[in-house]
Amino acid sequence: MDRAPQNGVVILGSGLGGYTLARELRKLDAQVSITIVTADGGESYSKPMLSAAFAQGKDALSLMQKSPGQMAEDLKATILARHRVAAIRRDAKTVVIRRPDGDEMELGYGRLVLALGADPRPYVAEGSETAGLRTVNDLDDYAAWRAALSPGARVLLVGAGLIGSEFANDLAGAGFCVAVVDPAPWPLGRLLPQALGEEMAKALGEAGISFHLGRSVTRWSMGRAELDDGSAIAYDQALSAIGLIPRTRLASEAGLVVERGIKVDGSLATSDPAIFAMGDCAETPAGLLPFILPLMAEAKALAATLAGCETPLKLPALPVVVKTPALPMVVCPPAPGAVGDWVMEGAGRDRKALFVSPQGKALGFALSGARVNERQSLAKEMPDLL
Ligand SMILES: Cc1cc2nc3c(=O)[nH]c(=O)nc-3n(C[C@H](O)[C@H](O)[C@H](O)COP(=O)(O)OP(=O)(O)OC[C@H]3O[C@@H](n4cnc5c(N)ncnc54)[C@H](O)[C@@H]3O)c2cc1C
Repeated sequence: MDRAPQNGVVILGSGLGGYTLARELRKLDAQVSITIVTADGGESYSKPMLSAAFAQGKDALSLMQKSPGQMAEDLKATILARHRVAAIRRDAKTVVIRRPDGDEMELGYGRLVLALGADPRPYVAEGSETAGLRTVNDLDDYAAWRAALSPGARVLLVGAGLIGSEFANDLAGAGFCVAVVDPAPWPLGRLLPQALGEEMAKALGEAGISFHLGRSVTRWSMGRAELDDGSAIAYDQALSAIGLIPRTRLASEAGLVVERGIKVDGSLATSDPAIFAMGDCAETPAGLLPFILPLMAEAKALAATLAGCETPLKLPALPVVVKTPALPMVVCPPAPGAVGDWVMEGAGRDRKALFVSPQGKALGFALSGARVNERQSLAKEMPDLL
């Protein structure tokens, strides 16, 4: 077994969560031993670029900001890339790791951080396993997806949520022929009121994307998807973007408390005080927060805690910029279950929608077109998440 120093920090995952935490921790503590174990290649990259890179002509290599070797040097950390963690042994304070050659090793930890991310939700319908449906959730996926697409290909995109709409806009901008299917009546159905959703559908439609809203694929065969209204779409490649499921298996097998994600308290500790979780895999007291700004706040707070100064997570309202050049949009959704109504201002592309409680308090907003400039001032008026 490889023994990490007694107080050493082992981070599982080298996404924006794991690497931002390591960077913040190194700023506060020059001495602590940091080991990062990651199933992927360990490159540092910005995941949000995956749904905006095609139209800019960027391949996976040009999205890489730093190699794992450069990251190890910058962070003064050990990085075990292409090493998959198979189990956490809490009694021995070790993790069991499958090395690239298939052998297993054990690594000891003082404090363990789970920054394991989330898996794409699989689209399950007749024939879906054999229809070549792809997902793009990391650099390897992006490289494979780019390699699969020939110029002008017909792409069928399942899911018109935030990420699906971004992919649709990006692929249309890169010259592909894009069709989108979603059971919701308008794109970003869970984040936008009807008027803004319809404006988004119109803008993406003008960018050449054809929508099949209120529809689902009921049967897949290679190159053909049958919809629930009896129509069919022929495609060359299909991409599914119907949401993410936090990676919780390692945590639940280790006996940690797991609900929708790995449960953490206000200091990001799991039900084991030596194990923390953050990023897409964690369920905070404010719920799942699968976005960059909360992840940055988590990394700062957790780094301070790991450096010896317990620091609870504080989260202001955090608006998300939707990367759809056809219609710039910013969303700051109300907390799940919030009661209220959307109040609209403006017309056409340039709109402001405020989600207002029966007591007249603004709980969330969405902005489109020229009004996206109001995001910072409006965010200050929103209730804190934590
Ligand atoms: C296409 C796309 C566009 C997005 N755009 C935006 C945006 O515009 N704005 C925004 O705020 N958010 C956006 N998001 C969300 C944001 O990118 C994520 O919230 C964030 O990157 C998650 O980081 P993470 O470190 O938690 O997870 P990940 O980046 O998924 O990292 C997880 C890490 O865990 C490793 N891992 C998993 N299992 C194991 C194992 N068993 N052993 C070892 N290692 C393991 C993986 O290899 C990986 O290194 C987007 C997401 C996607 C997919």
